[in-house]
Amino acid sequence: MIEQRSVQVCEDCGTRIPETDSRGDCPACGGLLEIVHESSSDPSSLKELFAERRAQIGGVEQSGVWRYRELVLPTAADVDVVSHPEGNTPLMQRQRLSEWTGVDDLWIKHEGHNPTGSFKDRGMTVAITQARRTGASAVACASTGNTSASLAAYAAHAGIPALVFVPAGRVALGKIAQTIAYGARTLVVRGNFDVCLSLAVEARNALGVQLLNSVNPFRLEGQKTIVFEVVEQLDWAPPDWIALPAGNLGNTAAFGKALREARSLGLISRMPRMAAIQAAGAAPFARSFAGGFAERLHVEPETIATAIRIGAPASWNRAVRSIRETNGVVASVTDDEILEAKAVIDASGIGCEPASAASVAGVAKLRRAGTIREGESVVAVLTGHLLKDPGAVVSYHQDTEPRPAHANRPIEIDATLAEVERVLSRQSQ
Ligand SMILES: *Cc1c(COP(=O)(O)O)cnc(C)c1O
Ligand SMILES: [Zn+2]
Repeated sequence: MIEQRSVQVCEDCGTRIPETDSRGDCPACGGLLEIVHESSSDPSSLKELFAERRAQIGGVEQSGVWRYRELVLPTAADVDVVSHPEGNTPLMQRQRLSEWTGVDDLWIKHEGHNPTGSFKDRGMTVAITQARRTGASAVACASTGNTSASLAAYAAHAGIPALVFVPAGRVALGKIAQTIAYGARTLVVRGNFDVCLSLAVEARNALGVQLLNSVNPFRLEGQKTIVFEVVEQLDWAPPDWIALPAGNLGNTAAFGKALREARSLGLISRMPRMAAIQAAGAAPFARSFAGGFAERLHVEPETIATAIRIGAPASWNRAVRSIRETNGVVASVTDDEILEAKAVIDASGIGCEPASAASVAGVAKLRRAGTIREGESVVAVLTGHLLKDPGAVVSYHQDTEPRPAHANRPIEIDATLAEVERVLSRQSQ
């Protein structure tokens, strides 16, 4: 392996602390930490290494995160790694989605194909690996559901007790079911996600548990691999745009860091533009972008897309940097636009949870506005699996009045052939 060293650096004051320090924020000023890998590897040998590992059978490097270990957590030994494995998700094209968005060269990167059904697994494998390396006695997170499902699964694998804080009545059924099933101690908090996060931070300070929210810098290292994998799947020719849903802004931060590092290592020769898409009812970042990021805003969040129902995003400054460095944009889409995009994605056979559809809804909107131009290539990231939120599906197709444009209503019948024929003849008219 190539000789490497990693440190944690405070983003606000530049204080450097060892990689193995598990306190989680800057000892000098309380700022967020960033991992810096000090290495000297040339891009062509890295690309060869990544490609070789794709064909590998068994071992930690079959993971779509650990395949890029030099750029993620180079000091972790194989025995340290807690992997299910994750990543290696598909990059797909569908005529129907190109037509609906107006973008011919549209690629869908489906992170719902991860072991627990969301991209959160990419960050969690690294965070839990690091937690185990530093001897964590317990791990915790606040979550809108996917982080808790992922934390629960990886903590179970590592044999570390897990504690999760989720907002009462606001977690999609699939996610709460996973969290309970994988065995995390589940605290259902009367309050929204932002309340859960402050409580989790207090618990960290008081109880000495390691907090694995996306402010945890090791999570971001894992999430960077979404971008590495996308550009590798495109033979290292980056698209013009990468669109993703944005809630707490951890992924927006991670994507920017990945692009910056890929560019400075020479893995890619130009920067794609990032398009971060928020739900209109939880869009403090989009509103701030419209005002040149002059202010850090927070709102009382409300949206059907529970994974991005966040009013005070934690990774704000990092995400601003990502948007600025990639000449990116931040947009918002309404719940109706999200649900329509989701219905089209679902009906294409791909499927995703509501928050994920924000990226595709945002692409359609930016194309209509002319921000995404004719002929430009776009990768839209779907962050979570269709089955995460069965409630949203049933409510859209079955219970919404007036009937939405793409509703596919199930029809209850008596058990007679005549009834079947009656229904079929009505549908073919
Ligand atoms: C966590 C999550 C998001 C939001 O990502 P952030 O890093 O919080 O901006 C979007 N979609 C899904 C499905 C998620 O689980
Ligand atoms: Zn600091």
